[in-house]
Amino acid sequence: MKRKHKAIALFSGGLDSMLAVLYMQKLGYEIVPIFFESPFYPATKAKHGARVAGLNVEIIDITPDLIEVLKNPRYGFGKHLNPCIDCHGMMFRKAGEMLEKYQADFIISGEVMGQRPMSQRPDSMNAVAKLSGVRELLVRPLCQKYLPDTKPVIEGWVNKEELLDFHGRGRSRQLALAEEYGLKDFEMPGGGCLLTDKQVSEKVADLLKHDQLTPRYLKFLQEGRRVRISENLLLIVTRTKYESDYLTPRIEDEIVIKAANIAGPLGVLLGEDISLDEIKLAGRVILSYINKLKNSTAQVEYGQKFKLVNKLEVSPLSRQELDELTINK
Ligand code: SF4
Repeated sequence: MKRKHKAIALFSGGLDSMLAVLYMQKLGYEIVPIFFESPFYPATKAKHGARVAGLNVEIIDITPDLIEVLKNPRYGFGKHLNPCIDCHGMMFRKAGEMLEKYQADFIISGEVMGQRPMSQRPDSMNAVAKLSGVRELLVRPLCQKYLPDTKPVIEGWVNKEELLDFHGRGRSRQLALAEEYGLKDFEMPGGGCLLTDKQVSEKVADLLKHDQLTPRYLKFLQEGRRVRISENLLLIVTRTKYESDYLTPRIEDEIVIKAANIAGPLGVLLGEDISLDEIKLAGRVILSYINKLKNSTAQVEYGQKFKLVNKLEVSPLSRQELDELTINK
């Protein structure tokens, strides 16, 4: 039976979010799954999950909002630089702002009570609801039986008795429901939020510290060795062909630097008003990764938009000098 009310779903592409959407659909609700994308959380897993579950997912970029959250999360960070409570709160708030556009009445998500240490404890879920500003419109189909009634329950848009009581870290009930729905190959290795990764968090912390946490600096986040040339200048150095292939299409007007006439890494300079001394130091870093040079000087070439029309003669740094500048190896 088709229900009168419609919901937006926060959809991650993980099994719980698929089940929450499918469960509500089976009850007759029209559901719009939404994935909030950012450089920290690409849509790969959401697209996979949507394919597996036969759903159309809307992908919405929330990079500017997440940057603001990262600058000052009210509830702090998780194990790494993941501000999960504030981030969840912000995502629910964004979903609330989109209700009118999708002519939806309430918001659902796939939390399971007590499943994850930080974001799914009752006090965290309460904090998320409070931050979101749409607490009264949230329904968690997989565990709503444990939660206080919100407007959709009170008004009878949803029947609490029809909702579930999943809790704890065990996954047997989720797996049983997945089987009942015929879901296969729903686990996708990786593809989660990069802010829960130690190395990526170190890169983001460096950008935060230097007031460079902007979409422009984040487009190179996933690959490359990072060397902090100065407060103003970050150098990204490729380690493999794969990394060069990743960086190259993302380069717009950034200065690119490499050794002239010798095979070696590609460097991308990220900074404002870059001085000649900074470029020289970047050139020295680039040469340091070319083993056969040892300590001898060599030419580097650099320029914007891959027009490497400028040349400099520099010498490689010592290992110790290089280590002091390197953020991640
Ligand atoms: S894991 Fe990442 S995307 Fe998910 S709530 Fe935490 S910070 Fe936000």
